[in-house]
Amino acid sequence: MFLANKKIVVMGVANKKSIAWGCASALKNQGAEIIYTYQNERMKKQILKLTDEGELLVECDVASDESIAAAFKEIEEKIGKIDGLVHAVAFANKEELDGNVSDISRSGYALAQDISSYSLLAVTHHAKPLLNPGSGIVTMTYLGSERAIPNYNMMGIAKASLEAAVRYLAAELASEKIRVNGISAGAIKTLAVTGVKNYDQLIKMSDDRTPDKIGVTIEEVGNACAFLVSELSAGIIGDIIYVDKGVHLT
Ligand code: NAD
Repeated sequence: MFLANKKIVVMGVANKKSIAWGCASALKNQGAEIIYTYQNERMKKQILKLTDEGELLVECDVASDESIAAAFKEIEEKIGKIDGLVHAVAFANKEELDGNVSDISRSGYALAQDISSYSLLAVTHHAKPLLNPGSGIVTMTYLGSERAIPNYNMMGIAKASLEAAVRYLAAELASEKIRVNGISAGAIKTLAVTGVKNYDQLIKMSDDRTPDKIGVTIEEVGNACAFLVSELSAGIIGDIIYVDKGVHLT
């Protein structure tokens, strides 16, 4: 187990289909202790169905600086230092995941960037003092950052920004021995994906483009995440690793 005695914060478990749940499970399989953050009480109820008694659950709405600050204060008080952070959080209004990008509203653009990209900077700011040397930060992105995927629209723009944030954060934190990387996951049916118009087609297109016609799973993404959080990936800094079963090849 390559994460024995490591304490990792996982943000973004909504239910058992969440990529964050695949990550938490893989991290646990490698011996890590997980600290879960949840957006609101509704999400907490879902996580409680999945977690064991004694595991720490902390509220953290990334739309609020106060909420982020309070969450990491609580983590510091109850856990102390941590060894990694998984950021698997994103949001855009349904209107911004349909139709023309030239119709995206100023407020819809700002909201999607705020929750899906700025939040990585904001949580890193508060997590930084707690992160031990050797820690890894991992976020989740998608091919729609580089290609115009039908209806992914605003989220593709936000993911491009998120990927740039990964590179700048990685450059900033490397001297503190904290590595920052992203996983570009293939399309998986989760709550977030159902916000994209015709999401079934998005998932089918992704599955069809895999060389073996089988889409990636949250377990596969989770295992790659465990590797990237750990020091096994010490040579990988500021990178975006495809974990999409080869969708990006064609
Ligand atoms: P999901 O719906 O299970 O998870 C999204 C999470 O974001 C939820 O837990 C939700 O509570 C959280 N969130 C939204 N707004 C928040 C806020 N204000 N504060 C705190 N948390 C907030 O869906 P998922 O697909 O597992 O998404 C996880 C990440 O993976 C996202 O960044 C998503 O863009 C990315 N991703 C998903 C796919 C896919 O096909 N599902 C592919 C590539 C990347």
